[in-house]
Amino acid sequence: MSEPTTGHKSEHGDEPAESFHFIEQIIRDDLASGKHPGIHTRFPPEPNGYLHIGHAKAICLSFGLAAKYNGQVNLRFDDTNPEKESQEYVDAIRRDVQWLGFDWNGGEFFTSDYFGQLHAFAVKLIEDGHAYVDHQSPDEIAAGKGTPTRAGQESPYRNRTVEENLALFQEMKDGVHPDGHCVLRAKIDMAHPNMHMRDPIIYRIKRAHHHRTGDDWCIYPMYDFAHGQSDSIEGITHSLCTLEFEVHRPLYEWFIQALDIFPSRQIEFARLNLDHTVMSKRKLLTLVEDGVVDGWDDPRMPTISGLRRRGFTPESIRTFCDRVGIAKRENVIDFSLLEWALRDHLNRVAFRAMAVLDPVKLVIVNYPEGQTEMLPSENNPEDESAGHRALPFSRTLWMEREDFKEEASRKWFRLAPGKTVRLKSAYIVSYEDHVVDADGRLQEVHVSYYPNSKSGSDTSGIKAKGTLHWVNADTAVDAEVRLYDRLFSDPKPDGHEGREFSEFLNPESLEIRTGCKLEPSLAQAEGGTPFQFTRLGYFTLDGAKSESEGHMVWNRSVTLRDGWKG
Ligand code: ATP
Ligand code: MG
Repeated sequence: MSEPTTGHKSEHGDEPAESFHFIEQIIRDDLASGKHPGIHTRFPPEPNGYLHIGHAKAICLSFGLAAKYNGQVNLRFDDTNPEKESQEYVDAIRRDVQWLGFDWNGGEFFTSDYFGQLHAFAVKLIEDGHAYVDHQSPDEIAAGKGTPTRAGQESPYRNRTVEENLALFQEMKDGVHPDGHCVLRAKIDMAHPNMHMRDPIIYRIKRAHHHRTGDDWCIYPMYDFAHGQSDSIEGITHSLCTLEFEVHRPLYEWFIQALDIFPSRQIEFARLNLDHTVMSKRKLLTLVEDGVVDGWDDPRMPTISGLRRRGFTPESIRTFCDRVGIAKRENVIDFSLLEWALRDHLNRVAFRAMAVLDPVKLVIVNYPEGQTEMLPSENNPEDESAGHRALPFSRTLWMEREDFKEEASRKWFRLAPGKTVRLKSAYIVSYEDHVVDADGRLQEVHVSYYPNSKSGSDTSGIKAKGTLHWVNADTAVDAEVRLYDRLFSDPKPDGHEGREFSEFLNPESLEIRTGCKLEPSLAQAEGGTPFQFTRLGYFTLDGAKSESEGHMVWNRSVTLRDGWKG
């Protein structure tokens, strides 16, 4: 199977295997120069939603490099925003990282565990004259920031004494002041060309219940006064994050200097963008809350749990992230690259099985009534060790409705009057007759078979151009099958100014087929195991959905070929 040419080649995609992307090169240089005896990375999700495929890229990068260079990697929950965070998200994040095949050998941490330490850092900044309590209103603070082309204005509270600041900060911590009454700001430079350096807020008062620290604190550090400091506390050597943090880097480094803490190095890379979807957790949460999808793990969601439920494998997601590559330039990746990676993996590992999604009776008129024979069929032509299974075959089968036409051209290699086809792993059959109901809808197709044309021992000499899949009627297992398409019909649903991304939802992203017929071996299938349904695509049993619906529900993971004409 060839990889689609989608213009997604990484900057390094064409180079020989021994080339390294820029972050890996930095790491190699740091190890070679002895700057660090070993590397230590981290993945710092905020537990305010489920992980998505963009996070998978960040995970593969930080965990992958640590593993490759015998380093360590931490899982750190960046939980400084109590209102939006919860234990459910913490659990889901752990599950997803593990499922992707990674292990946080450096340990699991929570930024909230450092609240005491971070508070002490803030006190040190005040003592050194590097921070002050500001009583301006949020609007005044915003106005005082200036613009990128106009310097900001110093707050009238900027030159408070150390003693005064220490006392006020203590009052903030003790809950003396109402929410938002005052903030702690770093004292840097209100005329700095980088707006983030214009006395950024580092602590705010917020009476919010935290999912781990409860009501211990009524002041919380801002992202910029938590993230970098946590890196230093944990001895992170290479702190890898997405490009939007590039403008925060001077501040990251300023705090390291001012606090004289471990010099972690922040390095930014381009975030992953996928077409036909949205990737921000806030937008994904909207889809969940509005009931547009069946939860965070809906198989159409770009979340890791959604991809898992759809039938993606960890291998395919890792391959995808690898192919996307690491670069400094933002781009949008075709969803079809993700599907290619899945097909490529499942083609090698998925067992084959037969299923009919839109069944019509196929009667073999010269096959003895009441007789059943077992026909061997290979489980995976790509893997001999996968062995064979026996398919029951008898006079009455199910065939796919679309495999019959009343009037067909010479190029139609399926069933029609005058046509001969092979039934996969069974016999060659020729059209005899068909039955339609009063509305002209096809009810049955009648064929005769050639007893000496059995697959594997065919002496008939008959050439059949087409091969059809089928399921033995008596022993078939009934199932519901869900076919998925892109969740959004627009390639960039959140790229239209003045319009909501939800206006671009694809009304045909889910098609539910009931009364599908599966070969009997699939009655024993386990949730999450991939199968290739002959001629139809890759499918996986949805264990949880089957249980809640009281009947088998299968999800189509991906079609056999790229059929998307977006
Ligand atoms: P979102 O914008 O989807 O809410 P986020 O950046 O707020 O994502 P975090 O939980 O803060 O989510 O992200 C954890 C890590 O994952 C960060 O280091 C971030 O840089 C990285 N990350 C998030 N989205 C992407 C993406 N699309 N591609 C690559 N890395 C990403
Ligand atoms: Mg974030």
